[in-house]
Amino acid sequence: MTQRATKIVATLGPASSAPDLLEAMIRAGVNVVRLNFSHGAAQDHIDRARLVREAAQRAGREVGIMADLQGPKIRVGKFAEGKVMLEPGEKFVLDASRTTAGDLSGVGLDYKELPRDVKAGDTLLLNDGLIVLTIDKVVGPAVHTTVKLGGELSNNKGINKQGGGLTAPALTAKDMEDIKTAMGLRADYVAVSFPKNATDMELARQLCNVAGAELGHRPALIAKIERAEAIPELANILKVSDGIMVARGDLAVEVGNAAVPGLQKHMIKLARQMDKVVITATQMMESMIVNPVPTRAEVSDVANAVLDGTDAVMLSAETAAGKYPLETVTQMAAICLEAEKTDHDPLEDDFLGETFKRIDFAIAMGALFTAHHLKAKAIVALTESGSTALWMSRHNVRMPIYAVTSNVAAQRRMTLYRNVRPLLMDTSADRDTALADAEKHLKARGIVHSGDVYAITVGEPMGSPGGTNTLKMCRAE
Ligand code: PGA
Ligand code: MN
Repeated sequence: MTQRATKIVATLGPASSAPDLLEAMIRAGVNVVRLNFSHGAAQDHIDRARLVREAAQRAGREVGIMADLQGPKIRVGKFAEGKVMLEPGEKFVLDASRTTAGDLSGVGLDYKELPRDVKAGDTLLLNDGLIVLTIDKVVGPAVHTTVKLGGELSNNKGINKQGGGLTAPALTAKDMEDIKTAMGLRADYVAVSFPKNATDMELARQLCNVAGAELGHRPALIAKIERAEAIPELANILKVSDGIMVARGDLAVEVGNAAVPGLQKHMIKLARQMDKVVITATQMMESMIVNPVPTRAEVSDVANAVLDGTDAVMLSAETAAGKYPLETVTQMAAICLEAEKTDHDPLEDDFLGETFKRIDFAIAMGALFTAHHLKAKAIVALTESGSTALWMSRHNVRMPIYAVTSNVAAQRRMTLYRNVRPLLMDTSADRDTALADAEKHLKARGIVHSGDVYAITVGEPMGSPGGTNTLKMCRAE
């Protein structure tokens, strides 16, 4: 079993859908697979999910599946010739009522609400900020602009407003259909694009609960933080979500590139403090879409996200459409592992001035503290829901946390948690048998050897969530 604590999320696409390659990528370190619902039909995602489950089984690993919803399409329409070349100083009109294909004078809008959301003086960023337009005036459905930064603008490119403020709702009719598909394929995580506030996440939760009810499936929810409005709402969004994604692609366009590294650190810290998970995403190994090795800057970026405390680092086009999906995963895994070695260990500071009010939480913290002082080999949590393992994993300990569960959904969810290695085991027996079985399991996998000290937490009655009440320090037989 790998010693890497940081998890890798890889986006599936045409470059990574061959069964053997997918299996190799999982062996090389992919923990969670992201299905991007911006591309492909429902059946494509269902087929890909099946491929993932099969490849994971062949590789002997459990892999989580994250369904990433498309969210609102804030985009321009199409051009007569597919694209235009915009030069600085030219006038360009974005017109919601335009029915003809676009040309050098202007283009229609997929996002019809744009004229209502903007005013003279605002700045629009198109195509991930590569094109910048300043708004001169808004006349009815027509937004008149001057090109500030020119370039090629092609069909259906995205529009962002600098500073945020576009009113498009986070969940579209397509997203609502896609949630049903995601529940059908038992996605462990659902990522919501462009949420503005906690209400957007609560709506997503309700839709997932309704769609998942008859299947008995409840996914974890990830809020993609990629709108300026979401930043002041971060704590409220975290409260009602299971985790967040530092979605640097769209976020950088809205708040400006330079603000993103600081926001990344802030988001990771707050997520961990609130016992939530966090994924750092976009352009992490971007040059490996075409090159077999990353740049020095990319190596540092991945390593710094690890040192910031992210649960997972994410690959997008690198694995979905790149030339070197397997090499990218292999190199990313190596960078994470090396960065973790230089991670410092402020565990004791974490507990200063803290009071624990819940028994299960206090036992989890007690296990960390005791294992840390005894320099134990491992921490083991017998956990139904995975909560104990999540709480433990919010702190830096230099030993792996093995989360033993009988619940395969909990096992898959835990694939994203930093430093947690989920194991499936029947824990339905009485407590002493379960403890003995867990030790056998750990020894059989070479995790502990005779004489090793490890900490184990367990609850009674067995098999019910939230019951952790016991910490036992063991020396393996
Ligand atoms: P996307 O989200 O890849 O779905 O756009 C991530 C981001 O914006 O960084
Ligand atoms: Mn995005």
